[in-house]
Amino acid sequence: MAAISERRELGTLLRERLRGEVIDSEHPVYDEARSLYNAMIDKHPAALARCVDVADVIAAVAVARENGSDLAIRGGAHNGPGLGSVDDGIVIDLSAMRGVIVDDESGTARVLGGSLVGDVDHATGAFGLAAPFGIISTTGVSGLTLGGGIGNLTRKYGLSVDNVLGFDVVLADGSFVHASESKNDDLFWALRGGGGNFGVVTAFTFRLSAVPSVVGGPTIWTLDKAEEVLRWYREFLPNAADDLNGWFAFLTVPPVDPFPKELQLQKVCAVVWCYTGTDPDKAFLPVLEQKPDLDGRMAMPIAALNSAFDPLYPAGHQWYWRADFVDSIPDAAIEAHVEFARTLPTPQSTMHLYPTDGAAGRVANDATAWAYRDAKWGQVMVGVDPAPSMADALREWTVAYWEALHPHSMGGAYSNMMMEEGDERVRASFGANYDRLVQVKRRYDPDNVFHVNQNIRP
Ligand SMILES: Cc1cc2nc3c(=O)[nH]c(=O)nc-3n(C[C@H](O)[C@H](O)[C@H](O)COP(=O)(O)OP(=O)(O)OC[C@H]3O[C@@H](n4cnc5c(N)ncnc54)[C@H](O)[C@@H]3O)c2cc1C
Repeated sequence: MAAISERRELGTLLRERLRGEVIDSEHPVYDEARSLYNAMIDKHPAALARCVDVADVIAAVAVARENGSDLAIRGGAHNGPGLGSVDDGIVIDLSAMRGVIVDDESGTARVLGGSLVGDVDHATGAFGLAAPFGIISTTGVSGLTLGGGIGNLTRKYGLSVDNVLGFDVVLADGSFVHASESKNDDLFWALRGGGGNFGVVTAFTFRLSAVPSVVGGPTIWTLDKAEEVLRWYREFLPNAADDLNGWFAFLTVPPVDPFPKELQLQKVCAVVWCYTGTDPDKAFLPVLEQKPDLDGRMAMPIAALNSAFDPLYPAGHQWYWRADFVDSIPDAAIEAHVEFARTLPTPQSTMHLYPTDGAAGRVANDATAWAYRDAKWGQVMVGVDPAPSMADALREWTVAYWEALHPHSMGGAYSNMMMEEGDERVRASFGANYDRLVQVKRRYDPDNVFHVNQNIRP
């Protein structure tokens, strides 16, 4: 623990150099400002540097370096293990740098580093355009994209990183660079999946695609049918056209309209669909042949689908998750899945299998830092509950579930869906790209200034 005077000193130094607000422990909103999406993690930074422009980011990196302070980067603060903050150090808080400018002529969007998924969906949706992001609109574009970015449009348009044309980056030495196919291409490669290891991304340029509307929403089956549904799903989805995305889930039906009374609070399995093609009747015929107990699909803007689950997962709950990539779902895995689905410890606890095939799977394993292009799904089990007293139970259930399924996995996980699980897990998750990532890290951040992340050691 740094002495209180040292922590105050960092706040003073930042205040002298930043235009944005500096929030230290004396500040009236300190507790609110330092809180993270995952309430299981409680960190006390020396100061949050609420940067308003690139100059502020450069200044905050300089203050951290000059004072040997730990430095964290906070985009949307959704990181599971809370890697958007750090005890006693400086947090570069990008929440005041939210903004999206759509260029409909070039079909691109400039997105500031503090923007949330919902900010981009809103801005691009007005033009019938979209880039692929995640399934909850309050997630930060920065953290999600830098780790890869899986969501409802993955099979059609690839990972979020597959749609990045350029990054603006403040490096560890305070310099400001662009990274794209034609500039700093090694950095461009590493930022597409390597996380916050290489610098502070102050803006992204995304390629947009036409997504005027989708047919989205869940089909739900009671848990007694889960084995059968999962056996069907593992064959059906990888053979479906890219237009159809569908992530599998175990969940508890919320006790609210429009869910029918007989399903409310029941543990069920579901597939949450997102169809971007022109013939939904044909595309969904095989799904309806599986006779779901509830068909909640409807035509909607992608922004509506990407925010449909927001009310179920507000900030401030206890979260614990574990993940793995899988390229198949063998019978033994299905049996274990269903066993753990029967014991979902709380109504918000869940398991998702996110498809990573289709357009995302046709990119070469070494084309970007994301090393698992041959995976078919990113699997994640998540314990969630509002009550802090449930923290241990959530963790125990999640770990036991993960341990039962891990032998059926490809060995590594999506870095954005990991807790702090140690160097070996980080290495496994960057897989065959790890050594090349180390080389890029040595070039751009040899002193590991950016180490509060799933860290690639230089
Ligand atoms: C409710 C919920 C739903 C989710 N759904 C999805 C999903 O559908 N698809 C998916 O792919 N992921 C999903 N995730 C995982 C998500 O991608 C990660 O939690 C990610 O870290 C969140 O990014 P953030 O900016 O909100 O997080 P933060 O906690 O702010 O940052 C996380 C890390 O990202 C890095 N970082 C953040 N901003 C920058 C920046 N500007 N420059 C450099 N590094 C930066 C830092 O290393 C930081 O430690 C979800 C998470 C939650 C909690």
